[in-house]
Amino acid sequence: MSTNDVDVLVVGAGFAGLYSVHRAHNEGWSVVGIDAAPEVGGTWYWNRYPGARCDVESMDYSYSFDEELQSEWRWSERYATQPEILSYIQHVADRFDLRRHYQFETRVTQARFDETASRWVVRTDTGKEYRARFLFLATGSLSAPKIPDIAGFEDFEGEVYMTSSWPATDPDVSGKRVGVIGTGSSGIQCIPILAEQAEQLTVFQRSANFSVPAFNRPVDDDEWEQALADYPERRRLSWAGGAGSPHVSHPGDPLAMNDEERRQVLEEWWQRGGVLFGKTFANQLVDRKINDFARDYAVERIRAIVQDPTVADDLVPTDHPIGTKRICTDSGYFETFNRDNVELVNLRRDPIEMITPWGIQTAQGAHKLDVLVLATGFDAMTGALTRIDIEGPRGDRIADTWGNGPLTYLGMGIPGFPNMFSLSGAGSPSVLANMVLTGEQQVNWLVDLIHYCDEHGHTEVEARLDAAKAWGDHLDEVASATLFVDANSWYMGANIEGKTRGFMPYLGGFATYGALCDEARDQGYAGFVLGS
Ligand code: FAD
Ligand code: NAP
Repeated sequence: MSTNDVDVLVVGAGFAGLYSVHRAHNEGWSVVGIDAAPEVGGTWYWNRYPGARCDVESMDYSYSFDEELQSEWRWSERYATQPEILSYIQHVADRFDLRRHYQFETRVTQARFDETASRWVVRTDTGKEYRARFLFLATGSLSAPKIPDIAGFEDFEGEVYMTSSWPATDPDVSGKRVGVIGTGSSGIQCIPILAEQAEQLTVFQRSANFSVPAFNRPVDDDEWEQALADYPERRRLSWAGGAGSPHVSHPGDPLAMNDEERRQVLEEWWQRGGVLFGKTFANQLVDRKINDFARDYAVERIRAIVQDPTVADDLVPTDHPIGTKRICTDSGYFETFNRDNVELVNLRRDPIEMITPWGIQTAQGAHKLDVLVLATGFDAMTGALTRIDIEGPRGDRIADTWGNGPLTYLGMGIPGFPNMFSLSGAGSPSVLANMVLTGEQQVNWLVDLIHYCDEHGHTEVEARLDAAKAWGDHLDEVASATLFVDANSWYMGANIEGKTRGFMPYLGGFATYGALCDEARDQGYAGFVLGS
C-alpha cells in the first residue's frame, strides 16, 4: 500500500485528530493525518490572541490515555495559557512521534467515495490525492471562523486581526487606537490585555455576556504533588461525570433554601470560578426560577465592579438565561471598563453603519481606529465539515444532508457517508464537555468498530437513516427540556445568518453518552448498515 493509500485518513491535528492518528498507528493500521495549519495544536495553534487560556482546569483538559504522559507533564497554572497548551500538544506529538504521519499546510477540499474499492478519495489544495478505507473528520467544532458581513470592511486602512487566526508574532498595539468587535469568550479574554497595551480601546458589543472570574493561580509544588496523587480518582470522576470533569453541582434544592443559604452556595460556587458557576445547582439550566438565582447573583457582581451605572447596565446580559450561552471565564474583564482609555459601544442602541478607511461609523459616532480586532466567533459545529465538498456513494452531499441541521448517529456516523466519521462534533457532548476526553472516548469506540468490521468481513459501515433520525429526536427531546433552547447561541446555530436553528450538541451528559455508545456496540452496531 502506498503512503497515499491508507487504512485511516485523519483530517485535523487538534486533540481529537492527534489521538486518532496515535490509536490508528498503534493498531497497526496505515494512517495519514492532514491539517491546514503548519503545526499540530488545532484550536491551540490558531487562537493565540493575548489572554487565550482554557476554561476547563488543565489537570482535566489534557489526555488521560497514558499515565506516564499524565504524570510527566507539569501544568504551571490552574488554567494554562495558550502557549502552554500548545507546548503540551507539541510534547504529545513528539513523545508519540505523531508528526511523521502528518501533511501540514494542506487543506482537504474534497472527498468522494469510490464504491468499487470501498475507499474515500480525498483531494487537497496542494493537489495531492489520498485514498483511505476510513475517513476521520477531526476538523473541530470551533475551527471555521466567522467573518462578519459589515459594509466597508474591505476599505479599512488599519491593521485587522482575528482572534481565531492571531499572528504568531504578537502585534504591537502600544500607542494605538484599537477596536474590538465581539464580546464572547475570545473577546472577553483579550479585552483586558489589549486595554493595558493600547492607547485607546473601544469595545463594540452587540450582546452582553455573563462572565465569571477564573480565579486562576499558579500551581505550586505541594499542590501538584497532591494533584498527582489524586489523579486516578479525579479521572474516574471525570469519566463518570456529566461534563467530563470531576466537578458536581451542589446537592441541595435551592427552592427549599432560604435566601442566606442560597447565597452562601452561590458565593462558594462563584469562588470556584469560571464555567463551574454555571452549574451551581443541578437544575439551574432547566428551571427558570433556579436559573434566576444564579443570574441575579452574577448581575450583582457586575454592578459591584463597574463604576459607571450606565456602562454596567450595558454590560448586564438581558437576552438569555445564565449558562445557556457558554459562560465566559475572565481575568479582570468587567474591571476593564473602569479604565479611562476604554469605551463601550452598545451596538443594540448604537449600531455599526459601516467600516470606513479610518475606523467604524456607528449611528451615533465616529470611532477612529488604527487596529481592528475581530472576536466574532465561528460557524460552529458544522462549518468545518460543510466547507469540504464531501459526496457519498449515492450522491449525498454533506452540505445538503446537513442543510437543515446536522444529522448524525451518535454524533459520529452520518447516513449517506459510509466509513466516514465526525469527531468531537455535532450530535455528541463535545463542546458541552471536556473535549479532550470526548475525543478519546469517540476514537476508542471507532477503533473497536473498525476491528468489528475487519473481524466480520465488512468493508463498509454506514449509519442507518432511521437510527440517525432517532438519535436526532433524542437530542431534540433532551435539549427542549432545558433552557438552552431559549438562547440565540452558536449551540443553536443562531450566530450565522440563514443557518437552521436547532440545538447541535448532545445535552444528555458525557457519561450517559459513553454508556449509549457502549450499548450500541454491545448490540452489534445495529444502528449501522454493515456490508461489503
Ligand atoms: P481543533 O482543535 O479545532 O482542530 C481541528 C483542526 O482541523 C484544525 O487544526 C484545523 O486547521 C483542521 N482542519 C479543519 N478543516 C480542515 C480541512 N478542511 N483541511 C485540513 N485541516 C482542517 N474546550 C474545552 O473543553 N475547554 C476549553 O478550555 C476550551 N477553550 C477553547 C478556547 C478557544 C479559543 C476555542 C476557540 C475553543 C476552546 N475550546 C475549549 C474548544 C476546543 O475547540 C476543543 O477543546 C478542542 O481543542 C478541539 O479539538 P479538536 O481536535 O476537536 O479540533
Ligand atoms: P462567540 O462566543 O460566538 O462570540 C462572538 C462575538 O462576536 C459575540 O459577542 C457576537 O455578538 C459578536 N459578533 C459576531 N458577529 C458580529 C457582528 N456582525 N457585529 C457585532 N458583533 C458581532 O465566539 P468566541 O468568543 O470566539 O467563542 C466561541 C466559543 O469558543 C466559546 O463559546 C467557547 O466555547 C470557546 N472559547 C473558549 C475560551 C476559553 O475561555 N477557554 C476562549 C475562547 C473561546 P452576538 O452574541 O450578538 O452574536
